[in-house]
Amino acid sequence: MFRRASAAVIGRRITSVVADDPIVVPTPEVVRAVSGGRVVDVVRHGKVMGIVVRHQRREQTIDVHFGMSGRVIVDGRSPIEELAYGASDDSRWHRFVLVFERGSLVLSDPRRFARVTSADDRAPLGPDAWSIDLRTFRERLGGRRTAVKAALLDQSLVAGLGNMLVDEILMLSAVDPRRSVASLDARTVASIHRHTRAVLDRLWKRGGSHAGDLAAELRRPGAPCPRDGAAMVRGTVGGRTTFWCPQHQF
Ligand SMILES: [Zn+2]
Repeated sequence: MFRRASAAVIGRRITSVVADDPIVVPTPEVVRAVSGGRVVDVVRHGKVMGIVVRHQRREQTIDVHFGMSGRVIVDGRSPIEELAYGASDDSRWHRFVLVFERGSLVLSDPRRFARVTSADDRAPLGPDAWSIDLRTFRERLGGRRTAVKAALLDQSLVAGLGNMLVDEILMLSAVDPRRSVASLDARTVASIHRHTRAVLDRLWKRGGSHAGDLAAELRRPGAPCPRDGAAMVRGTVGGRTTFWCPQHQF
């Protein structure tokens, strides 16, 4: 339903761009350059929504990274009202707005974790985590000795996975985030690949905002694992705060 709402903006001409929040929009001059252009496509790259704009025979893609609490509002309506952040909205949370001849697309984010960038300043990315096939997934991870969590977060290997998503994927795959990639057998890699796709599918249906199952209630030490009730533990893996279940993740 999120995609449907976004697709509603295809074909519209952008009359102006509001991009005044320097945290959410770090390169406003690049992003504002789409003003006057026309939206020709809305694509997805992992959990990033790409808005493709054609302007003076040139195409530019604006990437919307939703962060934890960002959501999109098209023509004043959110396609994801049922989410944790609910129907409440406040114009102070509008970090980025594409104003069309008629209607608008707004990125609303009370917590300012969302980011709007241009694909023009995007670093080289690995293949998209959602569409990557198992063989490529296996090749990208390779036999490296780094922790599997760190490898999944490395955007140059596989693009589109954030910290909480990776914790969720590894919990579902029953893999200890500290394990080295080299120690995983083929079946385990296949399980991680399958759960990556499933988690991203669910995320996308929710509108790109990660109010995930492992998000709030499980991200504290001692919270009961939803599978077996064991107390979740917290540690640092790959430089990031990580939660896992010591009972079923090994
Ligand atoms: Zn467990």
